[in-house]
Amino acid sequence: MPTRTDRRAMEREDERILRRGMPLREDLAAAQAQTRRLLRILRDAANPRRAGDAAAELHAGYELSYRHNRPTGLDCRRGCAHCCRIFVSVTAPELFLIARSLTGARREAILGRLAAADERVHGLDAAARRSAGVTCPMLEDGACSIYTVRPTACRSLLSFDVNACISAFVEGQEGGRAMAPVGPMLRSGYMAALCAALDLAGLPDASYELVSGLRRVLETPDAEARWLAGEPVLEGLPQDRGRNEQFRAAVAYIARSVAQAWG
Ligand code: SF4
Ligand code: SF4
Repeated sequence: MPTRTDRRAMEREDERILRRGMPLREDLAAAQAQTRRLLRILRDAANPRRAGDAAAELHAGYELSYRHNRPTGLDCRRGCAHCCRIFVSVTAPELFLIARSLTGARREAILGRLAAADERVHGLDAAARRSAGVTCPMLEDGACSIYTVRPTACRSLLSFDVNACISAFVEGQEGGRAMAPVGPMLRSGYMAALCAALDLAGLPDASYELVSGLRRVLETPDAEARWLAGEPVLEGLPQDRGRNEQFRAAVAYIARSVAQAWG
């Protein structure tokens, strides 16, 4: 079992490893360091907001790495929201982080829009969802109203060609979308670290659909505290089943290696 001194030394080492965020290439040391950082937050039982805080740490790491790996020539810009009509996959900690950012009348207004959208898209798969043409309830004046806390899935959708996006997301055409690979690469690495940390903390690592998930969280009093206590507050919601065996194996390997070295 590592001593307190060992743990402090490991924290400093994790800082060093992650000073530019996780790299795009597979890097076990970086994945372990990011997992440990998330796990420190998730294991802090004195912090009732630790799930949302872990999501904030996840996003900060993602953005740090993105700054060092940002491609040139992207068409993505404020007010471009043709992609904001697809199935958005989001983890529970990310839902709690978004919910925390919504207060007062704005929270009520967004909850109303979530409920209306949920009636139309609940349970639809990705293809049916796109065909339904329902835009994300978080859009306001054509821009994302939760931009600073938007899910990792949204952060990772980056395109070199807006016309390809319109063709794919609005018109439902098959074919290339000219997406930048950096988005999925970062998303995969950071999601693997989050899932490994959640597994080690004994918390569910499932991903949900944004509209129904956020609606449930906003309608459930003390949702984050109850989820942390093991209550099935997100039970029955549509889940993202897209994680493949390779991803699952990577998560299990990272979790195992962190547990062996760190306890
Ligand atoms: S992914 Fe496509 S639709 Fe979405 S912001 Fe970027 S260019 Fe616009
Ligand atoms: S959360 Fe924001 S970025 Fe994501 S789909 Fe909704 S409006 Fe678009």
